[in-house]
Amino acid sequence: MAIDVMNPYEMAVAQFDEAAERLGLSQAMRAILRKPKRELIVNFPVRMDNGDVEMFTGYRVQHNINRGPAKGGIRFSPEVSLDEVRALAMWMTWKCAVVGIPYGGAKGGVICDPHKMSMAEIERLTRRYATEISILIGPDSDIPAPDMNTNPQVMAWIMDTYSMHQGYSVPAVITGKPLAIGGSEGRLEATARGVQVVALEAMQDMNMQPEKCRVVIQGFGNVGGIAARLLHESGCKVIGISDISGGLYNPDGIDIPKATRFSREHGGLRGFPEAEEITNAELLTLPCDVLIPAALENQITGHNAAQINTRLIIEAANGPTTPEADAILNERGITVVPDILANAGGVTVSYFEWVQDLQRFFWAEDEINMRLEKIMKRSYQAVKAKAEEQRTNLRMGAYLLAVARVAEATEIRGVYP
Ligand code: GLU
Repeated sequence: MAIDVMNPYEMAVAQFDEAAERLGLSQAMRAILRKPKRELIVNFPVRMDNGDVEMFTGYRVQHNINRGPAKGGIRFSPEVSLDEVRALAMWMTWKCAVVGIPYGGAKGGVICDPHKMSMAEIERLTRRYATEISILIGPDSDIPAPDMNTNPQVMAWIMDTYSMHQGYSVPAVITGKPLAIGGSEGRLEATARGVQVVALEAMQDMNMQPEKCRVVIQGFGNVGGIAARLLHESGCKVIGISDISGGLYNPDGIDIPKATRFSREHGGLRGFPEAEEITNAELLTLPCDVLIPAALENQITGHNAAQINTRLIIEAANGPTTPEADAILNERGITVVPDILANAGGVTVSYFEWVQDLQRFFWAEDEINMRLEKIMKRSYQAVKAKAEEQRTNLRMGAYLLAVARVAEATEIRGVYP
């Protein structure tokens, strides 16, 4: 295996090991935190529209629950694997700790290609998967949320399935739900809003004026698409965007509201007339001031890190940069705001949604956005201060803060029995 297409779990463990070493954690603590606490593999049948029955495999992994119930999204993708879900669960543990919300980390996924399935098939797959993992999930134990290729409708089906089994509505079992059934104002844009907040903070620290910044964003979904709009509104010139159909480049700036409408009407960005078509690989090396990977893991690797042509990277995706690439970027003086901080806005507003559901008391959107902004700014400043104090980069600063918090909770709780 080439080192730069790393197994995501090995990558997550390597990042953790470095932090554990710097923190001087005991070997026992390292052994505990390296492993996910629980891993559930489910194989289940789904009846397809043509009457055939197909088998699917899904996972739910809880990495650590010492700071609170398990929390993390569910993704539907052909690339899902147990090691990917393990890595994403571990990153959720650190992410919740870095922003100081009382959750442990979890993740789920089903190996499937939702783009090739009908709505009815996706609903049946979702409901059966929810039933299979219902031995783990619950409002006090493990609260899923959206991730790649899952959306508020999928969350509604999971909430409904779980509630049918209980005999009453349990909105707090899942977050990212539609507003009509206990979702939260601001949740849909929350990840992107968090990305915007930390991007503007970092730009300020680096004396970069938003109006003079050229921004490139990989991914045009719930995170990348909305981040493009918000940064465009902040005055940045978004010169490159992409989705699975490919990339677009316009050095004079892309009209983001227009591109968003085009993507909605045409089912993707391909063919948008006011920009040059480029590949996703070309997009990542475009000359720019801020680069925002908002798609998949393993995008900035040993292969392209030397060609990345930016000053600031905001990791809106989970795990977009391999450790090998990280070292190269560091060497080259490129600032990286790490995933566990940069994309924590989503789970932060998930926390607000869960609290609102448990209290049956709902907040206004401006209240939510204000609290989100406060948490993101505070967390960014804490990470920066830690990095400066320890003479390291922002990723290590975030890991040092997060891992220390989880290790402290694990230590205080002790080893049972
Ligand atoms: N899937 C999102 C993430 O990776 C959100 C998780 C959540 O809201 O629980 O952070």
